[in-house]
Amino acid sequence: MSKTDTLDQSDLPVNGTRRTVCRICHLACPLVVEMEAGKPSKIYGDKNNPIYHGYSCIKGRVAYSYHTSEARLLHSMKRSDDGEYRPIESDTACKEIAGKVRELLDQYGPRSIACFIGTPGWNNLSQQPLPHQRLRTPSPLGVA
Ligand code: SF4
Repeated sequence: MSKTDTLDQSDLPVNGTRRTVCRICHLACPLVVEMEAGKPSKIYGDKNNPIYHGYSCIKGRVAYSYHTSEARLLHSMKRSDDGEYRPIESDTACKEIAGKVRELLDQYGPRSIACFIGTPGWNNLSQQPLPHQRLRTPSPLGVA
């Protein structure tokens, strides 16, 4: 795997707390993350925030499990002919996907492409117009 296939966590404290916001849904609740030995161990709402007053839901409070789960994907995967998923360089994966999308566009046109963006992607404003503008697909965007 190349360096771009691993997550840079050098700005995270090994121990202590860090303020952030939850990115699971549109509310972006302010959170405090407690770190132990370089891993998030506890998350709770930021009581010092003047708007949220410490509010968070259970999804945000257990979000550390995304980081520590043994099932967490740390790099791109590709399904092989035998059905097993194997690591693939992200740049290679993007090029392969782009090639297949190009084939569909050339052969069947933009209506052959449907796009779906789940909640975290929907919050990324830079990604929302991509399918319409770049692929010219008329498909609406989805939200999970
Ligand atoms: S803590 Fe819950 S309500 Fe707040 S942003 Fe995260 S998922 Fe949404």
